[in-house]
Formats: sequence, structure tokens, C-alpha cells
Amino acid sequence: MSISRPLHVALVGAGPAGTYAADILAGSGLDVRIDLLERLPAPFGLVRYGVAPDHPRIKGIIRALEKVLARGDVRLLGNVHVGEDVSVERLTELYDVVIMSTGADADIPLPIPGVDLPGVHGAADFVSWYDGHPDVPRTWPLKAREIAVLGVGNVALDVARILAKHPKDLLSTEVPANVVAGLEGSPVTDVHIFGRRGPAQVKFTPLELRELAKVPDVDLVVYEDDFQFDEGSEEAIRSSNQVKQVVGTLTDLAMRDPEELTASRRIHLHLFHSPAEILGTQEDGVQAIRTERTELQGDGTVRGTGEYVDTPVQAVYRAVGYYSAPVDGLPFDFTGGVIPNTEGRILGDDGEYLPGLFATGWIKRGPVGLIGSTKSDAQQTISHVLADVEAGLLGQGEEPGGREALTAELTAAGVPWTNWEGWETLDAFERDLGAKDEFPRERVKVVSREAMTAISTGQEPGALH
Ligand SMILES: Cc1cc2nc3c(=O)[nH]c(=O)nc-3n(C[C@H](O)[C@H](O)[C@H](O)COP(=O)(O)OP(=O)(O)OC[C@H]3O[C@@H](n4cnc5c(N)ncnc54)[C@H](O)[C@@H]3O)c2cc1C
Repeated sequence: MSISRPLHVALVGAGPAGTYAADILAGSGLDVRIDLLERLPAPFGLVRYGVAPDHPRIKGIIRALEKVLARGDVRLLGNVHVGEDVSVERLTELYDVVIMSTGADADIPLPIPGVDLPGVHGAADFVSWYDGHPDVPRTWPLKAREIAVLGVGNVALDVARILAKHPKDLLSTEVPANVVAGLEGSPVTDVHIFGRRGPAQVKFTPLELRELAKVPDVDLVVYEDDFQFDEGSEEAIRSSNQVKQVVGTLTDLAMRDPEELTASRRIHLHLFHSPAEILGTQEDGVQAIRTERTELQGDGTVRGTGEYVDTPVQAVYRAVGYYSAPVDGLPFDFTGGVIPNTEGRILGDDGEYLPGLFATGWIKRGPVGLIGSTKSDAQQTISHVLADVEAGLLGQGEEPGGREALTAELTAAGVPWTNWEGWETLDAFERDLGAKDEFPRERVKVVSREAMTAISTGQEPGALH
């Protein structure tokens, strides 16, 4: 069955998942009107506000996403927070299909004693700060000489690298001025990364590890005592080229002559250390991290040995995973941190599919996986949208109000929504800032939401961060 009028689709969240889904839908051959709603004045989600500024190759994925949005068949509506500026319920009245692609931007809690002490931070908050997210404070407390980073994924390595890197080595990136100023005041000498398991179980990728070993004037210290392998580890090394490469690189690093380690700053990688407690007081903040040594059990999992180690640190960063925010008006699975769904079809509290409601990206399958995986994910979700249209479940009856009705309502409510042309203006402004900077580069980010909105709508920006 086909439809006799255009299908109106709202995608919520202009990260890679939402943009890829919009692209696939636009190319499906269906007569479709697609609006991509984004709560920030800038699109691209975590590619702009998660990927580290010193990863320009990955940031470059933005160029591919830009091409989709510049074509004109997917219309960006920025500065619209779904759940606040417009409800999901209202969107379902204005559109035939609503696809949630809201991603994740918070930290999974880490329930250990001392986690509420001053000086304990979530990695997601720090990432948002150094990537110039408009909704976090402009200053960051960087007073610690010794810092612990808990977790052994790529985000943990990003956080450790940015904390340890000399700020002058970030001056070729898009990093905002307030971030450089903040990092310049940091007295850090040692960053300690702690992981519960061993070299064959770490989550970071070989590329990120090799990069960490090459940071100028920062030594990556790996300890021989932290090498243990069991049957599960051997199997992991045999079956995954990635694990093999990581173990190989870690082994090379551990074998180095200590005399080679002469840098003024160090990143220490401690494996088989399970974070047990953060020590300190409310008055003085963090003073140390207590970890329990662990050992392999045969299948790659670990158990505690009862041996504890205290490492003096004055700040702790939790980098044990991201977590999605629930969106008002939609069910949420608090255990998995996702909107309950079957292959992207959103399920109600009774487990039944809610017609016309879909999800894609990290909000659909949880905060794991690289940008590329959001594309296959979007493909799956859109295939179900198309199947439901074909089955006559969607796009029947009177044509809904769509974009015109939504923008009229937002304008009437005083929401300063922005559009693609607004982003192009902001993009040009940031590029100009970069070109005119004391250290000329591709772009320097504008951080303040007010300034981003003002520039996008052709007004005087005021303070940029
Ligand atoms: C710190 C970090 C570093 C990373 N580095 C890499 C890397 O180097 N390489 C790589 O391949 N992958 C990397 N990733 C993974 C990659 O960022 C994700 O795979 C990808 O961004 C997930 O896409 P998404 O569209 O589902 O979510 P997101 O990118 O989070 O996009 C979601 C969008 O929805 C918007 N939104 C949220 N709520 C609402 C709402 N209520 N209303 C309107 N809009 C809303 C958000 O503002 C955001 O723009 C990294 C992730 C993190 C956290």
C-alpha cells in the first residue's frame, strides 16, 4: 500500500543517528517532509560535543553530516528542546512519525564510598566543558597535581589525555579560549587510569592507545605487574585482532627501559585495580583513591584479592560509561538507559508497539559503539518506518500540520528557534574566529548559547564564552 500525500516526519536530535536516519529516509523514494529538531543551536551531537578536539579526523565526519543537512530536503530546527519547548505528545499530533535520536550525555553513577566528595567529577561533564558545550559552567576546577581516571574505555583515555596534555599542544584545535585558559592553570603532573580487568579486557581501541603513547612531553607508564592472562584472555587475543593489537602495544610499553621515561607529566595505566573507595573529607576534598587488586578467574572475569592499594590523588574522574536522559512523555528503561524498543519501534508500558514512534542511535541501543554504527542502526529503524507505511499503518488520513504549524507555535511561545542558514552563519563566524586567532586554525568554537543563538539569527553576539 502506498500513501497519497506526503509523510511528515520529525526526528528529535541532530547527532549522527538522527542525521543518518534523515538521510536514509530522504533517499527512500517516499514523498516525505523531514524536520530534524535539535535542542542546541548547533547540530552534530557528540561529534561536536564529545569527540575530543585533538581528533580532527573524526571531527571531520561533520563534513559528511553537513552535506545531508545542506541539501535542503532535511530541515534543521535548532534550539528546540523536545519535552520542554514542545511535548512529544504535541509532535505526534503535528507529524505522522516521530523518531527519537536524543543520544546520551550524562555519566553512569559509580556507587562507591566517597563519590560525593568535592573533587570527584563525571567524565561526561568534563568532556562537555572541554568541547565547549553551552550548557555547562565555563570554568573547571583544575587544581590537582595527581588525578585518578576510573575506567578503561576510549572516553577514559580522552579524559586522561586532555588532562595531561600541555595546553600549547591543543592550540591547533577548535578548543575554545576559556578551555585553554583553564588548562593553562593546571598543576597536574600525574594522571592515574584504573581498570578492573587486564590487558586483554580493556575497552579502548589500539589507535587511541597508540595515540596516548605519543603525547608530547607526557609518558605513558604501564606496569609489568599488571600483566596476567587466563584462558578467557587467550581466547580473546586469538579471536580479536583489536585485542591482540592492544595487548601487543601494552607489552611493548611495559618492556621499555625506565630511563626512557623523562617527560614532565605522566599517565599511569593501572590494570587489575578495582576502585573501592575515594578517600578524603568534605572540607579538604579528595586525598586518595583506594583500589582493590583483582585476579583473573579463568574466563576473563576477575575477583577481588582482598589486597588494597591507596594512591594519592586530589581529583577523581568517573569514566565508566554514558547514560541517556529520559524524555518526558515517553517510556524509559532505567536499567538499560534506553527508550524501550524492538529494532527501533518504541514500546509502551504494556510492551505493545506505539504506532508512529521510533528510536535510533544511542537512545535506542545504549551508549556504546562508534559513529559508524549509528548508520546501520538508522537503516534498521527506517526500514521499519517504511514497512509500516507500506502496511498502511502510517501516513493515512488528513495531512498533519507539520513544520509550518510547529514553527508558528514555537514563535508564538517565544522560543528562539534557529535553522540551517543560522548554523551556516554560526559556522562561518567560528571559522573566522579561527582564522583571526593568534594561533590560526580551522575554527574556534563559540560556547555561550545566547551568543550562538544571536549569531545564528543575525544579531550582535556579546560574550562568546
Ligand atoms: C567523549 C566521547 C568521545 C567519542 N569519540 C568518538 C570517536 O573518536 N570516534 C567515534 O566513532 N565515536 C566516538 N564517540 C561515539 C559517538 O559520539 C556516538 O557513537 C554517536 O555520537 C551517537 O550518536 P547519537 O546521534 O545517537 O547521539 P548524540 O551524538 O548524543 O546526538 C544526540 C543529539 O540529540 C540532541 N538532543 C538530546 N535531547 C534532546 C531533546 N530532548 N530535544 C532535542 N534534541 C535533543 C542532543 O543535543 C544531540 O545533538 C564518542 C563518544 C563520546 C561520549
